Amino acid sequence: MTLDVKGRKIAIVGLGKSGLAAARLCLREGAKVVGFDEGGQAGPEVNALVGEGMALRLGPLGADAFAGFDRVVVSPGVPPREAFDAAEANGTPVIGELELAAHFTETPIVLIGGTNGKSTVTALVAAMIEAAGQAVFIGGNFGTPLAEAVLDDRGYDALVVEISSFQAERVPELRAKVHALLNITEDHLDRYPDFAAYAQAKGNPFVNMTADDFAVIPQGDPRCAAQAARGGAQVVTFSGEESPEATVALDPTGKALVDRRRGLLVPLAHSPLRGQHNVSNIAAAIAVASALELPGAAIVGGLERFSGLPHRAVMVRERAGVRFYDDSKATNVGAAVAALAGLVEPKAVLIAGGRDKQGDYAPLVEALAQKGRALVLIGEAADRLAEAVGDTVPVVRAASLEEAVSRAAALASPGDAVLLSPACSSYDMFKSFAARGDAFAAAVLALAEEDA
Ligand code: ADP
Repeated sequence: MTLDVKGRKIAIVGLGKSGLAAARLCLREGAKVVGFDEGGQAGPEVNALVGEGMALRLGPLGADAFAGFDRVVVSPGVPPREAFDAAEANGTPVIGELELAAHFTETPIVLIGGTNGKSTVTALVAAMIEAAGQAVFIGGNFGTPLAEAVLDDRGYDALVVEISSFQAERVPELRAKVHALLNITEDHLDRYPDFAAYAQAKGNPFVNMTADDFAVIPQGDPRCAAQAARGGAQVVTFSGEESPEATVALDPTGKALVDRRRGLLVPLAHSPLRGQHNVSNIAAAIAVASALELPGAAIVGGLERFSGLPHRAVMVRERAGVRFYDDSKATNVGAAVAALAGLVEPKAVLIAGGRDKQGDYAPLVEALAQKGRALVLIGEAADRLAEAVGDTVPVVRAASLEEAVSRAAALASPGDAVLLSPACSSYDMFKSFAARGDAFAAAVLALAEEDA
Protein backbone atom coordinates (compact mmCIF):
# COMPACT_ATOMS: atom_id res chain seq x y z
CA MET A 1 0.00 0.00 0.00
CA THR A 2 1.60 3.23 -0.98
CA LEU A 3 0.27 6.71 -0.90
CA ASP A 4 1.08 9.24 -3.59
CA VAL A 5 1.75 12.51 -1.82
CA LYS A 6 4.07 13.99 -4.46
CA GLY A 7 3.02 17.56 -5.21
CA ARG A 8 0.06 17.22 -2.83
CA LYS A 9 -0.70 19.71 -0.09
CA ILE A 10 -0.37 17.94 3.25
CA ALA A 11 -1.12 19.44 6.67
CA ILE A 12 0.87 18.06 9.57
CA VAL A 13 -0.88 18.92 12.83
CA GLY A 14 1.10 18.86 16.08
CA LEU A 15 4.84 19.35 15.68
CA GLY A 16 6.09 17.02 18.40
CA LYS A 17 8.15 13.91 17.75
CA SER A 18 5.69 12.09 15.53
CA GLY A 19 4.55 15.22 13.66
CA LEU A 20 8.14 16.13 12.85
CA ALA A 21 8.85 12.62 11.59
CA ALA A 22 5.67 12.69 9.48
CA ALA A 23 6.66 16.07 8.04
CA ARG A 24 10.12 14.79 7.15
CA LEU A 25 8.64 11.77 5.42
CA CYS A 26 6.20 13.90 3.40
CA LEU A 27 8.98 16.30 2.40
CA ARG A 28 11.11 13.36 1.25
CA GLU A 29 8.19 12.14 -0.84
CA GLY A 30 7.88 15.52 -2.55
CA ALA A 31 4.74 16.81 -0.85
CA LYS A 32 3.94 20.46 -0.15
CA VAL A 33 4.03 20.36 3.62
CA VAL A 34 2.43 22.83 6.01
CA GLY A 35 3.10 22.28 9.71
CA PHE A 36 0.47 23.40 12.24
CA ASP A 37 0.98 23.70 15.95
CA GLU A 38 -1.32 25.29 18.49
CA GLY A 39 1.68 26.32 20.59
CA GLY A 40 3.07 29.78 19.99
CA GLN A 41 6.72 28.99 19.38
CA ALA A 42 8.83 26.93 17.01
CA GLY A 43 11.86 25.06 18.36
CA PRO A 44 15.08 24.37 16.47
CA GLU A 45 13.83 21.11 14.91
CA VAL A 46 10.76 22.85 13.51
CA ASN A 47 12.91 25.67 12.17
CA ALA A 48 15.21 23.13 10.53
CA LEU A 49 12.22 21.70 8.64
CA VAL A 50 11.14 25.19 7.63
CA GLY A 51 14.64 25.46 6.14
CA GLU A 52 13.88 22.30 4.16
CA GLY A 53 10.69 23.75 2.72
CA MET A 54 7.93 23.24 5.31
CA ALA A 55 5.55 26.16 5.73
CA LEU A 56 4.52 26.93 9.30
CA ARG A 57 1.26 28.01 10.90
CA LEU A 58 1.32 28.51 14.64
CA GLY A 59 -1.63 29.25 16.92
CA PRO A 60 -5.22 28.03 17.33
CA LEU A 61 -6.78 25.99 14.50
CA GLY A 62 -9.63 27.82 12.82
CA ALA A 63 -12.53 25.67 11.60
CA ASP A 64 -11.46 26.13 7.97
CA ALA A 65 -7.72 25.67 8.63
CA PHE A 66 -7.49 22.75 6.19
CA ALA A 67 -9.46 24.17 3.27
CA GLY A 68 -7.56 23.36 0.07
CA PHE A 69 -5.46 20.57 1.58
CA ASP A 70 -5.32 17.07 0.07
CA ARG A 71 -4.70 15.32 3.36
CA VAL A 72 -4.31 16.06 7.06
CA VAL A 73 -1.93 14.11 9.31
CA VAL A 74 -2.68 14.47 13.02
CA SER A 75 -0.37 13.71 15.93
CA PRO A 76 -1.81 11.56 18.72
CA GLY A 77 -1.52 14.31 21.33
CA VAL A 78 -3.80 16.70 19.44
CA PRO A 79 -7.35 16.53 20.82
CA PRO A 80 -10.44 16.45 18.58
CA ARG A 81 -11.06 19.79 16.83
CA GLU A 82 -13.83 21.20 14.69
CA ALA A 83 -11.28 21.71 11.89
CA PHE A 84 -10.86 17.92 11.48
CA ASP A 85 -14.61 17.39 11.10
CA ALA A 86 -14.75 20.23 8.62
CA ALA A 87 -11.88 18.73 6.58
CA GLU A 88 -13.57 15.32 6.49
CA ALA A 89 -16.89 16.88 5.53
CA ASN A 90 -15.05 18.41 2.56
CA GLY A 91 -13.64 15.03 1.54
CA THR A 92 -10.11 15.65 2.88
CA PRO A 93 -8.86 12.48 4.63
CA VAL A 94 -7.58 12.99 8.19
CA ILE A 95 -5.10 10.30 9.21
CA GLY A 96 -2.59 9.59 11.96
CA GLU A 97 1.18 9.42 11.66
CA LEU A 98 1.12 5.62 11.99
CA GLU A 99 -1.23 5.31 9.04
CA LEU A 100 0.92 7.66 6.96
CA ALA A 101 4.14 5.78 7.76
CA ALA A 102 2.58 2.38 7.13
CA HIS A 103 1.85 3.42 3.55
CA PHE A 104 5.59 3.59 2.87
CA THR A 105 6.77 0.19 4.08
CA GLU A 106 6.32 -3.43 3.04
CA THR A 107 7.86 -4.76 6.27
CA PRO A 108 5.40 -6.67 8.47
CA ILE A 109 3.88 -4.50 11.18
CA VAL A 110 3.15 -5.92 14.62
CA LEU A 111 0.87 -3.72 16.71
CA ILE A 112 0.65 -4.03 20.49
CA GLY A 113 -2.35 -2.22 21.98
CA GLY A 114 -4.44 -2.36 25.14
CA THR A 115 -4.98 -0.26 28.24
CA ASN A 116 -2.05 -1.78 30.16
CA GLY A 117 1.02 -3.88 29.47
CA LYS A 118 1.69 -2.47 25.99
CA SER A 119 5.27 -1.38 26.58
CA THR A 120 6.20 -4.54 28.41
CA VAL A 121 4.79 -6.79 25.69
CA THR A 122 6.25 -4.62 22.91
CA ALA A 123 9.74 -4.86 24.40
CA LEU A 124 9.38 -8.57 25.11
CA VAL A 125 8.22 -9.38 21.58
CA ALA A 126 11.16 -7.36 20.24
CA ALA A 127 13.54 -9.33 22.47
CA MET A 128 12.16 -12.59 21.04
CA ILE A 129 12.55 -11.38 17.46
CA GLU A 130 16.11 -10.30 18.20
CA ALA A 131 16.82 -13.67 19.77
CA ALA A 132 15.80 -15.18 16.43
CA GLY A 133 18.59 -13.17 14.81
CA GLN A 134 16.24 -10.78 13.01
CA ALA A 135 16.48 -6.98 12.81
CA VAL A 136 13.58 -5.38 14.64
CA PHE A 137 12.33 -1.82 14.95
CA ILE A 138 10.59 -1.01 18.22
CA GLY A 139 8.62 2.20 18.52
CA GLY A 140 5.28 3.93 18.09
CA ASN A 141 3.94 4.98 21.48
CA PHE A 142 7.03 3.28 22.93
CA GLY A 143 9.24 6.14 21.72
CA THR A 144 10.44 6.41 18.15
CA PRO A 145 7.69 7.23 15.62
CA LEU A 146 7.12 4.63 12.89
CA ALA A 147 7.80 7.34 10.27
CA GLU A 148 11.40 7.43 11.49
CA ALA A 149 11.80 3.70 10.87
CA VAL A 150 10.52 4.27 7.36
CA LEU A 151 12.85 7.23 6.75
CA ASP A 152 15.86 5.44 8.15
CA ASP A 153 15.24 1.95 6.83
CA ARG A 154 17.84 -0.32 8.33
CA GLY A 155 16.57 -3.44 6.62
CA TYR A 156 14.20 -4.34 9.42
CA ASP A 157 12.55 -7.77 9.33
CA ALA A 158 9.70 -6.61 11.56
CA LEU A 159 8.30 -3.34 12.91
CA VAL A 160 6.96 -3.76 16.43
CA VAL A 161 4.78 -0.79 17.25
CA GLU A 162 3.13 0.04 20.56
CA ILE A 163 -0.18 1.69 19.66
CA SER A 164 -2.15 3.94 22.01
CA SER A 165 -5.87 4.57 21.63
CA PHE A 166 -5.07 8.09 20.40
CA GLN A 167 -2.89 6.65 17.64
CA ALA A 168 -5.57 4.11 16.78
CA GLU A 169 -8.18 6.80 16.23
CA ARG A 170 -7.19 7.50 12.62
CA VAL A 171 -5.93 4.38 10.85
CA PRO A 172 -8.50 3.84 8.06
CA GLU A 173 -6.26 1.70 5.81
CA LEU A 174 -3.57 0.42 8.17
CA ARG A 175 -3.14 -3.33 7.93
CA ALA A 176 -0.93 -5.11 10.45
CA LYS A 177 0.33 -8.69 10.25
CA VAL A 178 -0.40 -9.10 13.95
CA HIS A 179 -2.41 -6.91 16.31
CA ALA A 180 -2.45 -7.81 19.98
CA LEU A 181 -5.15 -6.09 22.05
CA LEU A 182 -4.06 -6.98 25.57
CA ASN A 183 -7.01 -5.70 27.61
CA ILE A 184 -9.51 -2.85 27.70
CA THR A 185 -10.23 -1.22 31.03
CA GLU A 186 -11.14 2.37 31.87
CA ASP A 187 -8.68 5.08 30.89
CA HIS A 188 -8.66 8.47 29.21
CA LEU A 189 -12.30 9.23 29.99
CA ASP A 190 -11.14 12.84 30.00
CA ARG A 191 -10.73 12.56 26.18
CA TYR A 192 -13.47 10.14 25.09
CA PRO A 193 -17.21 10.72 25.46
CA ASP A 194 -17.61 7.29 27.07
CA PHE A 195 -15.99 3.90 27.61
CA ALA A 196 -17.52 2.45 24.43
CA ALA A 197 -15.85 5.16 22.33
CA TYR A 198 -12.48 4.38 23.94
CA ALA A 199 -12.90 0.63 23.26
CA GLN A 200 -13.95 1.34 19.68
CA ALA A 201 -10.79 3.42 19.08
CA LYS A 202 -8.64 0.61 20.46
CA GLY A 203 -10.24 -1.88 18.07
CA ASN A 204 -9.83 0.16 14.85
CA PRO A 205 -6.61 -1.58 13.71
CA PHE A 206 -8.47 -4.92 13.43
CA VAL A 207 -10.75 -3.68 10.66
CA ASN A 208 -8.47 -4.22 7.64
CA MET A 209 -6.95 -7.51 8.79
CA THR A 210 -7.62 -10.70 6.80
CA ALA A 211 -7.25 -14.46 7.31
CA ASP A 212 -3.50 -14.12 6.62
CA ASP A 213 -3.18 -11.94 9.73
CA PHE A 214 -3.47 -12.60 13.45
CA ALA A 215 -5.62 -10.97 16.11
CA VAL A 216 -4.14 -11.75 19.54
CA ILE A 217 -6.65 -11.21 22.36
CA PRO A 218 -7.22 -12.42 25.94
CA GLN A 219 -9.15 -15.67 26.28
CA GLY A 220 -12.73 -15.11 27.45
CA ASP A 221 -12.71 -11.32 27.09
CA PRO A 222 -15.89 -10.33 25.25
CA ARG A 223 -14.82 -6.68 24.86
CA CYS A 224 -11.60 -7.56 23.02
CA ALA A 225 -13.35 -10.34 21.07
CA ALA A 226 -15.99 -7.89 19.84
CA GLN A 227 -13.25 -5.57 18.60
CA ALA A 228 -11.32 -8.40 16.86
CA ALA A 229 -14.54 -9.45 15.13
CA ARG A 230 -14.63 -6.11 13.29
CA GLY A 231 -12.03 -7.63 10.90
CA GLY A 232 -11.22 -11.00 9.38
CA ALA A 233 -7.97 -11.97 11.14
CA GLN A 234 -7.35 -15.41 12.60
CA VAL A 235 -7.95 -15.14 16.34
CA VAL A 236 -5.29 -16.40 18.74
CA THR A 237 -6.06 -16.19 22.45
CA PHE A 238 -3.85 -16.03 25.52
CA SER A 239 -4.30 -16.42 29.24
CA GLY A 240 -2.03 -15.99 32.26
CA GLU A 241 -3.94 -18.78 33.95
CA GLU A 242 -4.73 -22.39 33.18
CA SER A 243 -7.28 -22.35 30.38
CA PRO A 244 -8.06 -25.29 28.11
CA GLU A 245 -9.60 -23.02 25.46
CA ALA A 246 -6.71 -20.55 25.17
CA THR A 247 -4.10 -20.93 22.44
CA VAL A 248 -1.39 -19.89 24.94
CA ALA A 249 -1.98 -20.51 28.66
CA LEU A 250 -0.37 -21.57 31.91
CA ASP A 251 0.36 -25.29 32.01
CA PRO A 252 -0.90 -27.36 34.96
CA THR A 253 2.44 -27.17 36.81
CA GLY A 254 2.10 -23.36 36.91
CA LYS A 255 5.76 -23.12 35.95
CA ALA A 256 5.53 -22.77 32.20
CA LEU A 257 3.30 -21.42 29.49
CA VAL A 258 2.15 -23.74 26.75
CA ASP A 259 1.54 -22.69 23.16
CA ARG A 260 -0.94 -25.23 21.85
CA ARG A 261 -0.81 -24.01 18.26
CA ARG A 262 2.89 -24.78 17.98
CA GLY A 263 3.27 -27.39 20.72
CA LEU A 264 5.78 -25.26 22.63
CA LEU A 265 6.50 -25.17 26.35
CA VAL A 266 8.06 -21.92 27.66
CA PRO A 267 9.41 -22.11 31.23
CA LEU A 268 8.88 -19.04 33.44
CA ALA A 269 11.68 -19.78 35.93
CA HIS A 270 14.32 -17.60 34.27
CA SER A 271 12.18 -14.51 33.80
CA PRO A 272 12.47 -11.74 36.41
CA LEU A 273 8.97 -10.43 35.56
CA ARG A 274 6.68 -10.81 38.57
CA GLY A 275 2.95 -10.75 39.18
CA GLN A 276 -0.07 -12.34 37.57
CA HIS A 277 -0.40 -9.48 35.07
CA ASN A 278 3.08 -10.23 33.80
CA VAL A 279 2.31 -13.92 33.30
CA SER A 280 -0.52 -12.68 31.12
CA ASN A 281 1.86 -10.28 29.33
CA ILE A 282 4.33 -13.10 28.69
CA ALA A 283 1.51 -15.30 27.35
CA ALA A 284 0.52 -12.49 24.98
CA ALA A 285 4.11 -12.04 23.78
CA ILE A 286 4.41 -15.79 23.13
CA ALA A 287 1.16 -15.70 21.13
CA VAL A 288 2.53 -12.83 19.01
CA ALA A 289 5.93 -14.48 18.52
CA SER A 290 4.24 -17.71 17.62
CA ALA A 291 2.05 -15.97 15.03
CA LEU A 292 5.29 -14.65 13.52
CA GLU A 293 6.55 -18.26 13.35
CA LEU A 294 9.62 -17.49 15.47
CA PRO A 295 11.54 -20.62 16.48
CA GLY A 296 10.76 -21.96 19.97
CA ALA A 297 14.36 -21.40 21.08
CA ALA A 298 14.09 -17.68 20.26
CA ILE A 299 10.86 -17.36 22.25
CA VAL A 300 12.42 -19.03 25.28
CA GLY A 301 15.73 -17.15 24.83
CA GLY A 302 14.05 -13.76 24.37
CA LEU A 303 12.04 -14.22 27.56
CA GLU A 304 15.13 -15.21 29.54
CA ARG A 305 17.08 -12.24 28.26
CA PHE A 306 14.35 -9.65 28.95
CA SER A 307 14.87 -7.98 32.31
CA GLY A 308 11.76 -5.77 32.38
CA LEU A 309 11.33 -2.02 31.94
CA PRO A 310 11.98 0.77 34.44
CA HIS A 311 9.09 2.15 36.57
CA ARG A 312 7.02 -1.03 36.21
CA ALA A 313 6.92 -2.55 39.70
CA VAL A 314 10.69 -2.28 40.13
CA MET A 315 12.03 -2.90 43.65
CA VAL A 316 14.04 0.14 44.71
CA ARG A 317 15.11 -0.80 48.22
CA GLU A 318 14.48 -3.09 51.16
CA ARG A 319 14.60 -1.26 54.47
CA ALA A 320 13.60 -2.46 57.93
CA GLY A 321 11.89 -5.49 56.37
CA VAL A 322 9.82 -3.34 53.99
CA ARG A 323 10.27 -3.46 50.21
CA PHE A 324 9.70 -0.26 48.22
CA TYR A 325 8.44 -0.61 44.64
CA ASP A 326 8.34 2.01 41.87
CA ASP A 327 5.33 1.37 39.62
CA SER A 328 5.03 4.98 38.46
CA LYS A 329 3.94 3.82 34.99
CA ALA A 330 0.59 2.77 36.50
CA THR A 331 -1.36 5.79 35.25
CA ASN A 332 -4.83 4.27 35.43
CA VAL A 333 -6.93 2.24 37.86
CA GLY A 334 -6.51 -1.13 36.11
CA ALA A 335 -2.72 -0.86 36.22
CA ALA A 336 -2.62 -0.04 39.94
CA VAL A 337 -5.01 -2.90 40.70
CA ALA A 338 -2.78 -5.33 38.77
CA ALA A 339 0.35 -4.09 40.53
CA LEU A 340 -1.20 -4.42 43.99
CA ALA A 341 -2.56 -7.87 43.24
CA GLY A 342 0.78 -8.95 41.76
CA LEU A 343 2.87 -8.18 44.86
CA VAL A 344 4.33 -11.16 46.71
CA GLU A 345 3.95 -9.27 50.01
CA PRO A 346 0.62 -9.87 51.76
CA LYS A 347 0.06 -6.19 52.62
CA ALA A 348 1.08 -2.90 51.05
CA VAL A 349 1.02 0.79 51.79
CA LEU A 350 -0.08 2.28 48.49
CA ILE A 351 0.98 5.74 47.34
CA ALA A 352 -1.57 6.94 44.77
CA GLY A 353 -2.95 10.09 43.21
CA GLY A 354 -1.96 12.58 40.56
CA ARG A 355 -3.96 14.03 37.68
CA ASP A 356 -7.43 12.52 37.73
CA LYS A 357 -8.73 10.89 34.53
CA GLN A 358 -12.32 10.81 35.78
CA GLY A 359 -12.52 7.02 35.89
CA ASP A 360 -14.15 4.84 38.54
CA TYR A 361 -11.91 4.09 41.54
CA ALA A 362 -14.09 1.22 42.82
CA PRO A 363 -11.78 -1.59 41.57
CA LEU A 364 -8.86 0.02 43.42
CA VAL A 365 -10.90 0.23 46.62
CA GLU A 366 -11.64 -3.49 46.27
CA ALA A 367 -7.94 -4.28 45.79
CA LEU A 368 -7.08 -2.13 48.83
CA ALA A 369 -9.61 -4.03 50.90
CA GLN A 370 -7.64 -7.20 50.08
CA LYS A 371 -4.05 -6.00 50.28
CA GLY A 372 -3.97 -2.46 51.60
CA ARG A 373 -2.25 -1.61 54.88
CA ALA A 374 -2.84 2.10 54.29
CA LEU A 375 -3.16 4.65 51.51
CA VAL A 376 -1.05 7.78 51.12
CA LEU A 377 -2.56 10.32 48.73
CA ILE A 378 -0.82 12.90 46.57
CA GLY A 379 -1.84 15.30 43.84
CA GLU A 380 -5.05 16.60 42.32
CA ALA A 381 -7.02 13.34 42.56
CA ALA A 382 -6.58 13.10 46.35
CA ASP A 383 -10.10 14.30 47.23
CA ARG A 384 -11.90 11.99 44.82
CA LEU A 385 -9.72 9.03 45.85
CA ALA A 386 -10.25 9.72 49.56
CA GLU A 387 -13.99 9.87 49.02
CA ALA A 388 -14.00 6.57 47.09
CA VAL A 389 -11.85 4.77 49.67
CA GLY A 390 -13.77 6.01 52.73
CA ASP A 391 -12.65 3.97 55.73
CA THR A 392 -11.63 0.83 53.79
CA VAL A 393 -8.03 1.46 54.91
CA PRO A 394 -6.39 4.29 56.86
CA VAL A 395 -5.83 7.27 54.54
CA VAL A 396 -3.26 10.04 54.96
CA ARG A 397 -2.38 12.91 52.66
CA ALA A 398 1.00 14.25 51.64
CA ALA A 399 1.89 17.53 49.99
CA SER A 400 4.89 16.10 48.13
CA LEU A 401 6.15 12.72 47.01
CA GLU A 402 9.00 12.97 49.55
CA GLU A 403 6.47 13.43 52.34
CA ALA A 404 4.42 10.54 50.94
CA VAL A 405 7.44 8.25 51.08
CA SER A 406 8.28 9.08 54.69
CA ARG A 407 4.64 8.71 55.75
CA ALA A 408 4.36 5.39 53.92
CA ALA A 409 7.57 4.13 55.52
CA ALA A 410 6.16 4.98 58.95
CA LEU A 411 2.86 3.21 58.23
CA ALA A 412 4.41 -0.02 56.90
CA SER A 413 5.12 -3.06 59.08
CA PRO A 414 8.01 -5.49 58.49
CA GLY A 415 7.04 -7.85 55.66
CA ASP A 416 4.92 -5.18 53.92
CA ALA A 417 5.52 -3.45 50.61
CA VAL A 418 5.39 0.27 49.94
CA LEU A 419 4.08 0.63 46.40
CA LEU A 420 4.00 3.78 44.27
CA SER A 421 1.27 2.84 41.77
CA PRO A 422 -0.62 6.11 41.36
CA ALA A 423 -3.63 5.15 39.15
CA CYS A 424 -3.35 8.69 37.74
CA SER A 425 -1.14 10.56 35.35
CA SER A 426 1.84 12.50 36.67
CA TYR A 427 1.29 15.83 34.93
CA ASP A 428 -0.02 17.70 37.99
CA MET A 429 3.32 17.42 39.81
CA PHE A 430 5.89 16.03 37.34
CA LYS A 431 6.80 16.25 33.69
CA SER A 432 6.41 12.51 33.14
CA PHE A 433 5.80 9.18 34.85
CA ALA A 434 9.57 8.60 34.67
CA ALA A 435 10.33 11.83 36.56
CA ARG A 436 7.76 10.81 39.19
CA GLY A 437 9.36 7.36 39.53
CA ASP A 438 12.83 8.87 39.79
CA ALA A 439 11.66 11.26 42.52
CA PHE A 440 10.14 8.32 44.40
CA ALA A 441 13.34 6.28 44.15
CA ALA A 442 15.43 9.25 45.31
CA ALA A 443 13.16 9.78 48.32
CA VAL A 444 13.26 6.07 49.19
CA LEU A 445 17.04 5.94 48.95
CA ALA A 446 17.26 9.06 51.13
CA LEU A 447 15.32 7.46 54.01
CA ALA A 448 17.61 7.00 56.99
CA GLU A 449 18.65 3.40 57.62
CA GLU A 450 17.46 2.96 61.22
CA ASP A 451 14.37 5.11 61.98
CA ALA A 452 11.91 2.48 60.74
P1 ADP B 1 1.50 0.49 28.99
O1 ADP B 1 2.58 0.69 27.97
O2 ADP B 1 0.24 -0.07 28.39
O3 ADP B 1 1.28 1.65 29.89
P2 ADP B 1 3.37 -1.01 30.66
O4 ADP B 1 3.93 -2.30 30.19
O5 ADP B 1 4.25 0.18 30.59
O6 ADP B 1 2.00 -0.73 29.90
O7 ADP B 1 2.85 -1.19 32.14
C1 ADP B 1 2.27 -0.07 32.82
C2 ADP B 1 1.69 -0.48 34.14
O8 ADP B 1 0.52 -1.24 33.93
C3 ADP B 1 2.59 -1.36 34.97
O9 ADP B 1 3.41 -0.56 35.77
C4 ADP B 1 1.62 -2.22 35.77
O10 ADP B 1 1.19 -1.51 36.91
C5 ADP B 1 0.43 -2.34 34.84
N1 ADP B 1 0.32 -3.52 33.98
C6 ADP B 1 1.26 -4.09 33.18
N2 ADP B 1 0.74 -5.12 32.50
C7 ADP B 1 -0.56 -5.21 32.84
C8 ADP B 1 -1.64 -6.08 32.46
N3 ADP B 1 -1.47 -7.06 31.57
N4 ADP B 1 -2.85 -5.87 33.04
C9 ADP B 1 -3.04 -4.88 33.93
N5 ADP B 1 -2.06 -4.04 34.34
C10 ADP B 1 -0.84 -4.20 33.81
